[in-house]
Amino acid sequence: MKALDYIVPKSAAAAVELLSDYGETACLLAGGTDLVVDLKHGAGRVETLVDVSQLQECRGIDETDEGLRIGSMVTYGEIMENSICLTKTPEIVAASHTVGAVQTRNLGTIGGNLVTCVPSADSAPALMVLDAEVTIAGTEGNRRIPIEDFFVGPRKTSMQPHELLIDIFIPKKNLGKPSSFYKFGLRKGQALALVNAAAALELINGEITSPRIALGAVAPTPLRAIKAEELLDGQKPNKELITKAADMAVAECKPIDDFRASLKYRQHLIRTLTQRVITRSLEVANER
Ligand SMILES: Cc1cc2nc3c(=O)[nH]c(=O)nc-3n(C[C@H](O)[C@H](O)[C@H](O)COP(=O)(O)OP(=O)(O)OC[C@H]3O[C@@H](n4cnc5c(N)ncnc54)[C@H](O)[C@@H]3O)c2cc1C
Repeated sequence: MKALDYIVPKSAAAAVELLSDYGETACLLAGGTDLVVDLKHGAGRVETLVDVSQLQECRGIDETDEGLRIGSMVTYGEIMENSICLTKTPEIVAASHTVGAVQTRNLGTIGGNLVTCVPSADSAPALMVLDAEVTIAGTEGNRRIPIEDFFVGPRKTSMQPHELLIDIFIPKKNLGKPSSFYKFGLRKGQALALVNAAAALELINGEITSPRIALGAVAPTPLRAIKAEELLDGQKPNKELITKAADMAVAECKPIDDFRASLKYRQHLIRTLTQRVITRSLEVANER
């Protein structure tokens, strides 16, 4: 790997300015678990690393009157031990537990996971079912967008090259919403998802309300199974309904067929995981 310059900016604004000035020759460094692998395969035009891992604006997990803010530089390890996340966003904690091994979870950040933007990113479905939004800093200031608008394609987000992901925001109404997350990989640990899935829903007067289902590794980007959600909304839960919703989710996905798993097997996983996340979310709702 070639030697690179290394800069630690003091603020998010300074980081954005550096990116803007240096153009393609600079690259942001968070935990480095994705980036260092990429750089080893060839740094392209990158000559300078801008280390944002300790930027105050991108750190911390804070609950406010509006909701929960998770800094982009928060690691999976920090999420797994955070008392607010443990009680109010257990699906994000569950997803964090499934990422890589302990070393990856201690270095890898939730922001880096979203920006890398692979279809199998484990944090994505867990955040999507909570209607999360992301704050992006650019030369014109900050903007906040729904997380679904962030994912554009494999390894492609809606951020401009000089922009910085600051944090993730979850609206208050979704904190503690009954939810669940499941991942299926070819091994129990250190495996990328063949399919991952999350669900969140309320059960009001015995009827499913505001259901959300999101799946990863099933299309070029993580996606919401909107038709399956619509089918569940306002219905009294039963086995047949959940089976139908899972079939609908299969129809909404566009999984690939490759050496890791056939199309048919991936469709089987989508159906099974969708059933499981809905069923488990209903169990959580009933336990309350
Ligand atoms: C052995 C191993 C196992 C893994 N297992 C899993 C797994 O099971 N599930 C999974 O989802 N992922 C897995 N990963 C991928 C990786 O660990 C995660 O995607 C991680 O969260 C990336 O975060 P990071 O802080 O290391 O990002 P980095 O590697 O530092 O950065 C990744 C990219 O994002 C950019 N970037 C980072 N932060 C920002 C920001 N705030 N704003 C703008 N750009 C930014 C960087 O410039 C770079 O291009 C694994 C990786 C390894 C090496």
